[in-house]
Amino acid sequence: MAVAAFVCLCLAAVSYYSWAGRGQVDVDSGYHLGMGTFARVVAVAKDSGTAQECIQAALAEIRLVDDLMSDFKRDSEIGRANTEAAEHPVQVGESTFEVLRRSVEFSKLSDGAFDVTVGPLVDLFRTAKKTGAAPTQEQIAQAKTKVGFEKLELDGQNRTVRFTVNGMRLDLGAIAKGYAADKAAEAAQRCGAAGAMVDLGGNIRCFGSPPKGRDHWLIGVQDPNAAVEGTSGGGLLLTLKINDESIATSGDYQQFALIAGKRYSHILDPHTGWSAEGLSSVTIITDNATDADALSTAVSVMGVQKGIALIEKLPDTEAILITSGPKREIIKTSGAGEYIKNKSDM
Ligand code: ADP
Ligand code: MG
Repeated sequence: MAVAAFVCLCLAAVSYYSWAGRGQVDVDSGYHLGMGTFARVVAVAKDSGTAQECIQAALAEIRLVDDLMSDFKRDSEIGRANTEAAEHPVQVGESTFEVLRRSVEFSKLSDGAFDVTVGPLVDLFRTAKKTGAAPTQEQIAQAKTKVGFEKLELDGQNRTVRFTVNGMRLDLGAIAKGYAADKAAEAAQRCGAAGAMVDLGGNIRCFGSPPKGRDHWLIGVQDPNAAVEGTSGGGLLLTLKINDESIATSGDYQQFALIAGKRYSHILDPHTGWSAEGLSSVTIITDNATDADALSTAVSVMGVQKGIALIEKLPDTEAILITSGPKREIIKTSGAGEYIKNKSDM
């Protein structure tokens, strides 16, 4: 993420104003650092002061979620669970418990493709990225003994988390950014924005009036082949038009590890213990960013057939998949086409 950090810092101080029409103004926060990626909020409101306040409220919510759920911060609720939950049940706040509860639901829905207990496997690949040596099959097998949502005990009455196996580690990297985007958008709405878009590293939540009197919020889907590691630059493959919806894209083109000349996606298949392969980008469109985030990761692991079957089964949820390799096929669920902006709409 070094490149992203550089780009974000350069743009962090910039706010863009423009008149939205219908007596409204829109303010663009520019890029800020948040949750190890970039955060950007566009707020539409009756005046620029309100829009600015709503942006600040949204960014504050993102910082709050990061402070609670980052596994890099030892004093976060997840950090504390990771150090203590094998010894005794660890109590967490309502937000963290809600995200853990939803995570287990997504694990069940995806037959274990999505699993926030992947921490020990993630650690192996982080070390491999540093040393340049791929993990051995023995190391993978050993880490897998500490992975599995069925090894996680959640007690809803006491809001506690407990690990049934020593060495387990939670990693909310595939769901917490979506949750934060939801909370940020809700904060902007409470603060009086007529509309807003929150983008947290490709986890996007929109509501209400789009800027400049447009009918839709326009969101670009990157061409994985044209993307530059860690940035949102690069060519666009499609433009999507959305209203009160969310979009999340997971992929192996922005974050991956190059180990001994082979590319390993940062998305891991908890069943094999190795990186997910086959899809270079998965975009999910649904009504909230938490679900979109978790599902984009789940489908990246499940692959085309099982992934499309899962999304077709879910109400008001669509997917656009781009396969990896030279052929680069685009595969869509039956209702996804409605969101794609044709050149003739421009
Ligand atoms: P990004 O973080 O790039 O938006 P994702 O939402 O797909 O991408 O999340 C990937 C992150 O989630 C990884 O960096 C890792 O921390 C964690 N992770 C990896 N594989 C899985 C998995 N199968 N289920 C849940 N979390 C995962
Ligand atoms: Mg995700």
